[in-house]
Amino acid sequence: LNPNSENYSPEELDVEKALRPLSFEDFTGQDQVLENLQIFVQAANLREEALDHTLFHGPPGLGKTTLAHILANELGASIKVTSGPVLDKPGDLAGLLTNLDERDVLFIDEIHRLSPIVEEYLYSAMEDYKIDIMIESGPNARTVQINLNPFTLIGATTRSGLLTAPMRARFGIASRLQYYSTELLSTIIQRSAQILDVPIGMEAAIEIAGRSRGTPRIANALLRRVRDFAQIKGNGTIDIEIARFSLKALNVDAYGLDEMDNKILSTIIDKFKGGPVGITTIATAVSESSETIEEVYEPFLIQQGFIMRTPRGREVTELAYKHLGRIKGATQGG
Ligand code: ADP
Repeated sequence: LNPNSENYSPEELDVEKALRPLSFEDFTGQDQVLENLQIFVQAANLREEALDHTLFHGPPGLGKTTLAHILANELGASIKVTSGPVLDKPGDLAGLLTNLDERDVLFIDEIHRLSPIVEEYLYSAMEDYKIDIMIESGPNARTVQINLNPFTLIGATTRSGLLTAPMRARFGIASRLQYYSTELLSTIIQRSAQILDVPIGMEAAIEIAGRSRGTPRIANALLRRVRDFAQIKGNGTIDIEIARFSLKALNVDAYGLDEMDNKILSTIIDKFKGGPVGITTIATAVSESSETIEEVYEPFLIQQGFIMRTPRGREVTELAYKHLGRIKGATQGG
């Protein structure tokens, strides 16, 4: 259920695909982002131009990939999908770029992980729709410049802080995705349940939504597991009882916090007396990079009121003590 984990089985990937909204209309939440995108797409369609290069940033599982597909659909264009770590050499990128038709979308996930050479190569493609390619080899080797069709690059990143300034400057549109409220997530869960053809009660949807860490991907994953319980242990319907029973059996945190969230909180309490403590110190203590903590974990912990940012560092709140069943002021392992 870790939103970062990509180890889905092929069947689960199929389900994940089936649950993915395909149009602006299907997409729930992120109202401000969506409203703007709809205008930009309409304008691009009206002028028959490629949409400006677009960057989505925000924690995993909030809909960046989904939006890239929706944009391509709404533009009436095709999408090619790749990711930063996969693009090894400029040649890999050249192959993709030269195969794009006019107004097509090239989606690069984890764009902060492009190698510097590939990134540099991308600049002229993004800016002038031109790339240099090397032809022949040995003494006859030379580069020729070729024109590309006007296209849209859509980049996604969980770590916008790691994007270089020149890269960032080449995106005409940049949107940050926010965590979803329980209400929005319960709407998403109800839509998914309908697609999966499993009846679900309102209360049950809200119960699952509240434990989904503000993240649609987690909400859908939990729904699929609860469906299993409903079909094997219940009568096939997801009501509040079977939802509570399953979530308990699945050991899902009451607030939807994952292992790293809880590790960060307990570390601040146990090793740093609840804070304030600097982000790099926390990062070292939990063996994670400070950028990941700052961009992926901390925003949710702050939004939910488990952590406060103070001028002297991060401090946990009463809620964190309560959640972990600790008493403020007590020393650990004394
Ligand atoms: P990201 O690229 O940000 O990691 P994805 O776009 O892959 O996230 O979303 C993960 C899953 O969550 C998708 O398969 C999709 O079914 C679901 N999802 C994400 N956002 C929404 C949304 N706003 N409405 C409905 N489902 C969503």
